[in-house]
Amino acid sequence: MAYLAISDGATDIQATDPTYLYQRIFFFLTTSPTTALILAAVFVFICQMKINLTNAYAGSIAWSNFFSRLTHSHPGRVVWLVFNVTIALLLMELGIYQALGAILGVFAIAAVSWLGSLSADLLINKPLGLSPNYVEFKRAHLYDINPVGTGSMLIATTLGLVSYLGVFGDVAKSLCHFISLGSCFVFVPLIAWITKGKYYLARQSPELIPMIELAKQRNPKYVTLTCGICENAFETEDMSFCSAYMQPICSLCCSLDVRCLDSCKPQASIGQQSDYFLKLFLPKGLVKALSSRFGRFASLLLVINIINAALMMLIYRQMAPSSLSEEALLKDTMLALFFTLLIVSGVLSWLFVLAHESRVVAQKESNRQTRKLIREIDAHQETDKALQHAKEQAERANEAKSRYLTGISHELRTPLQSIIGYAQLLSEKANTPSGHQNGLDIIHRSGLYLADLIEGLLDISKIEAGRFDLYRNTVDLPKLIDQLNSMFAMQARSKGVQFQAKILAPLPQHVITDEKRLRQILINLLSNAVKYTPKGSVLFEVNYRNQVAEFIIRDTGIGIKEGHLKRIFDPFERVRDVSTGNLPGTGLGLTIVKLLTEIMGGDLQARSVIGEGSEFRVSLMLPWVSQGDGSAYEYKRIVSYRGYQRTLMVVDDDPVVRGLLSDILVPLGFNVLEAADAESCLDELESCSPDLFVLDVSMPGMDGLSLAKLLRDRAYSAPIIMLSADAKENQRKPDEQAAFNQYLVKPVNNSALLDAIKHWLVLEWVYQETELDTLALTALKKTVSGNEEPYQDVLEDPSVATIPDHESVRELMAFAEMGYKKGVRGVLDQLAKKDVIAQTHLQQLESLYQGFQFDAIAQYIQTNSQLMCEVSEKPNDEPQ
Ligand code: ADP
Repeated sequence: MAYLAISDGATDIQATDPTYLYQRIFFFLTTSPTTALILAAVFVFICQMKINLTNAYAGSIAWSNFFSRLTHSHPGRVVWLVFNVTIALLLMELGIYQALGAILGVFAIAAVSWLGSLSADLLINKPLGLSPNYVEFKRAHLYDINPVGTGSMLIATTLGLVSYLGVFGDVAKSLCHFISLGSCFVFVPLIAWITKGKYYLARQSPELIPMIELAKQRNPKYVTLTCGICENAFETEDMSFCSAYMQPICSLCCSLDVRCLDSCKPQASIGQQSDYFLKLFLPKGLVKALSSRFGRFASLLLVINIINAALMMLIYRQMAPSSLSEEALLKDTMLALFFTLLIVSGVLSWLFVLAHESRVVAQKESNRQTRKLIREIDAHQETDKALQHAKEQAERANEAKSRYLTGISHELRTPLQSIIGYAQLLSEKANTPSGHQNGLDIIHRSGLYLADLIEGLLDISKIEAGRFDLYRNTVDLPKLIDQLNSMFAMQARSKGVQFQAKILAPLPQHVITDEKRLRQILINLLSNAVKYTPKGSVLFEVNYRNQVAEFIIRDTGIGIKEGHLKRIFDPFERVRDVSTGNLPGTGLGLTIVKLLTEIMGGDLQARSVIGEGSEFRVSLMLPWVSQGDGSAYEYKRIVSYRGYQRTLMVVDDDPVVRGLLSDILVPLGFNVLEAADAESCLDELESCSPDLFVLDVSMPGMDGLSLAKLLRDRAYSAPIIMLSADAKENQRKPDEQAAFNQYLVKPVNNSALLDAIKHWLVLEWVYQETELDTLALTALKKTVSGNEEPYQDVLEDPSVATIPDHESVRELMAFAEMGYKKGVRGVLDQLAKKDVIAQTHLQQLESLYQGFQFDAIAQYIQTNSQLMCEVSEKPNDEPQ
């Protein structure tokens, strides 16, 4: 631009003026002097703005860092930016640069001293080893004041100022900045040597070393530590160990913290340092007086007013009054201003000293409280650890218990499978004498009851382990109650206790609930009632209203003490006294009942009076449905299936199970191939291809799951049903689950097995419904209404004949229907003497009479005589 201007005729002087140059350039471009002038002005304005804004931004960073160090608070860079930009704009726009030129010259003395001290430290002290070989910047590791830097800066600034004021002559005055700079290079090494460089570092953080080692192991390439306050990760050079928080802290958080009161370096605070410094020159008493409240006030006031005086002197000199009167006026004004400021600074200093003191006191108190809290938290953490340990131990014990339970249930399930399976099979066999039917039913039901108990034990461990599934089945409610009734009436009678089931409101035929769990709840309560009632009666009442069923189990047994009533729901809690001493039990029943009721969203209430009896009430939401979903009890007996003959391969190492499955399946028309282990199964497969596999899971040699996988690998696509005594079906690995189609847990209900076969082979069953089945069902249903199982007795004992159509029987029936007690008593006595009806019937009728159940007596007579009548009408109609 200068070359262009000069070649265009501009003078050398003009070529040094940027504004002129811009103007020339814009003139070249626009050829209009006015436009060129305007453009040059705009350009200069933009450039100045840019320079000033950039400087202001840089300055704001410096200011904010400086203030956050000094005041331990973060005023915010934006504030400083605005502040600096405003100053920059004011200076620029108001043209006060010139006015400040002289002041800036003085400021430059301080700036040169500062930079000189830094340079001297880096260039002389570090190479000579007078200062550490690195630059420490973290507040936590530094003294508030390092006499090397601060001292040399002060001395250099003073020397520079004195020279500037012309005390050392004119040459020194013009060289004042150089005097400051040069003195730094003398005083910095000198003070460092005198003080032996001990004020460079107040402390280090050896506590961080193990943490750094750990961090190195985690990531050797990029070692960082996390600040305990802001929780950000920083390089280790930026971190210290904070003794107030007992955590690593980053340099920024450390700079800003006011609460620690520099507890990490008590000897390095400005107060301590100045005390130490003053004691070198002044008597102890005086130093003590200086550090008192008044002493601090006086020192602060003195420092502020020295600075004030210096500033005013500077202004006074800069203003350079031209006449004597002006000088006198300026002097008076300055003095008046100084003394006014002295009063103001006095008040402010006093306030400052007080505010500082109270802040320190408050902070100390707050720190004391914090320490107390931290101690408390530590104590809690200790307790927590102990609790955690105890919990882990308890959990381990619980796991061991669960393993034990799982193991024992595994052992019980296999024999139970045979008991239940054969009982069901025999009861469905056409040639089974009808008198055995009831016995078989009871074996079957009791087997299921045992299986349920095992399930119960497993359930508790499942619930405790958080693995518990609730199913939704359509349940035939009256039938369920029938079954419970017949099951417990038998038990009760065998110990001479009356058992009565009463339905208090019309029940829906089908409800939705988890049948197994509902059964479990009621069985537990009913068996307890019978078990803990040595004499008297047990009453089982069922009420149903607004979709809520209420089951009330009332007994006249031994009762429970009030204190025990709360405890009995806890696992393994049993009341042990003279009356219950010998009764078997695990103490798990009520725990299961309570857990199940809660899980099913129901309510369980217990009341009891010791010596008088107990009452347990279970309320459950059992939504009513109009039809069963087909999963409800199937009364029809399967005799075969439609379509061609299917081949099933049963692989089980237990010959009893294999035999049972064959006995169930062969009569239905299946071709059943048996194999005792995986190897023989694979051998057999060479000559046949089954339509379905039933595999036992645990077998010696290759187990069932491995066999299933092998079969899938060899491209056998036939459905595979796993049969196992291990109930952990939910915990199978996904690849294991892919190998089989269904997992049945032993003991498997025959119908469940048949359902599974039907499902996977897409079969259609052929049923045979016999009249006997229908009648049996009718009779079963009738027993619910309060009498004691007439049906059961008849079937139980084959020697029991029907109740004959005798005159006395009809009389008894009539009296019973009328509720005529004396009459019934009389006829019963007659019958006892005459030997008209079988002894069993007589006992039944007698016990019904004892319970004043006249309706039940009538019904009993009707059922037993009628039942046998109808059957006898078709004596040869035996099912196939
Ligand atoms: P278990 O019957 O196996 O001992 P439970 O959990 O079913 O365990 O019952 C816990 C305890 O509650 C029993 O040991 C018994 O003392 C008491 N209990 C439960 N039901 C009754 C009842 N109907 N009458 C008297 N005591 C009962």
